Amino acid sequence: MPRPTFQLYDTMSRAVVPLTPLAPPKVSLYVCGPTIYNYGHIGNFRTYVAVDLLRRALKHFGFKVDHVMQFTDVDDKTIRGSRESQLPLKEFTAIYRKAFLEDAVTLKIEIPERTPNATDHIPEMIALIKRLIDKGSAYVSDDGSVYFRIAAFPKYGCLCHLDLQNLISGARVNQDEYEKEGVGDFVLWKKWVAADGDVGWESPWGKGRPGWHIECSALSMEHLGPQIDIHGGGTDLRFPHHENEIAQSEAATGKTFVGHWFHVEHLLVDGQKMSKSLGNMYTVRQVLERGYTGRELRYALLSGANYGKNLNFTWQGMEDAKTALARIDEWRKRVRDTVATVPLTTPGVRAIEPYAPAVAFLEHLDRALAEDLNVNDARGHLFTLIRETNKALDEGQLTAAQAYELDAAWTTLDAVFGLGDATVSIPPEVQALLDKRAAARKAKDFSQSDSLRKEIEALGWKLKDTAKGQELTSA
Ligand code: AMP
Ligand code: ZN
Repeated sequence: MPRPTFQLYDTMSRAVVPLTPLAPPKVSLYVCGPTIYNYGHIGNFRTYVAVDLLRRALKHFGFKVDHVMQFTDVDDKTIRGSRESQLPLKEFTAIYRKAFLEDAVTLKIEIPERTPNATDHIPEMIALIKRLIDKGSAYVSDDGSVYFRIAAFPKYGCLCHLDLQNLISGARVNQDEYEKEGVGDFVLWKKWVAADGDVGWESPWGKGRPGWHIECSALSMEHLGPQIDIHGGGTDLRFPHHENEIAQSEAATGKTFVGHWFHVEHLLVDGQKMSKSLGNMYTVRQVLERGYTGRELRYALLSGANYGKNLNFTWQGMEDAKTALARIDEWRKRVRDTVATVPLTTPGVRAIEPYAPAVAFLEHLDRALAEDLNVNDARGHLFTLIRETNKALDEGQLTAAQAYELDAAWTTLDAVFGLGDATVSIPPEVQALLDKRAAARKAKDFSQSDSLRKEIEALGWKLKDTAKGQELTSA
């Protein structure tokens, strides 16, 4: 059966459309990275887990992904943070760059091919701003900063379908983030002010620093060329950030900047917008402190709602993720144990006929992913497969060859879901009790073996005696 065409919702055309990269199988993917002034919260990571899902799904369909994500290491927030902590900007942002990458690993996010810091590319930003001035798309204002002239870009507002009729012409915005009501000429180069301290670079327009929007235009051009296949980020970036990126890039090159816009809807917590004042803004580290694993958080961030819809985070959702993963892990173990009953080198152990439930599952997986990354549907099919094959296992009907096919199907799914296998790390004191109990059992001292079991269970573990020995799982 031919594989389905990979389709994705595109914010610009407001439709689910086939992905048509410029030079297939290569897909260039640019994703706006975090502002590194603090630890990332689980909302930020909802977006990066969804991008990771996209990246893995593209690979699943045979695309070669070239993925760039910048770190925003200069803006009002990073400068304020470095001043407050009395650290040079570079040292201050290095702390949060490292933390972000660690959290990404915790969540099994694949690190993009390139992750430049914005401040490593100031000359490229200056060159791009010069180009825009030469074309009449930007100007130096009387306050010494450089602005993009939106009146010179008639397509301005195309991504968000803005009605520019009501625009007050000549309005200027100096901040990086602003509301639609504040639409106007936006800053490309900010003239140095005393609050910037020792942060600033020389430029043809004097000492200053780049605006946030120019970063992504300059960095994507530098690393991926003037046109990129997919550009992504959280939904709040559509305006003004992505509108401004389109304006800067297209005014400079005259080419369509992005083939496909990928936006991830926001994570809510208990149905509310996350905010410091509500006390519902959790970092990945705070979730781990409550005893959950990165794998469980990743599962929760990939459950409940597909990327194009708001996702509601709750602690009950984390418990559900834990239960679902335990179910998957138990099934995985039964399947692996069945594979292990016959050495794979035994002639004829591979099924002559592929195992139908595994084949059907892989077809469902393809169709679900190809239809705008429908992970909910894919997960539904996984649990159907688990239910059916657990029944076959209960009845002793699953052969080693069939189990092998199931194991392979899981590997295909997990290359996209990125959940991995449960790893139990046994603390030394528990291992010592296990060793003692193994010796007691060998000596047929069952009363000591029972009291050791109770000790182990009191430490939060479940113990099962199997043909292969004692088996430990966390309770
Ligand atoms: P920032 O560090 O603020 O630039 O944000 C990094 C990324 O996280 C951006 O793509 C934002 O759109 C995204 N983001 C921020 N808040 C949320 C949220 N509550 N849910 C999902 N994504 C978010
Ligand atoms: Zn960006």
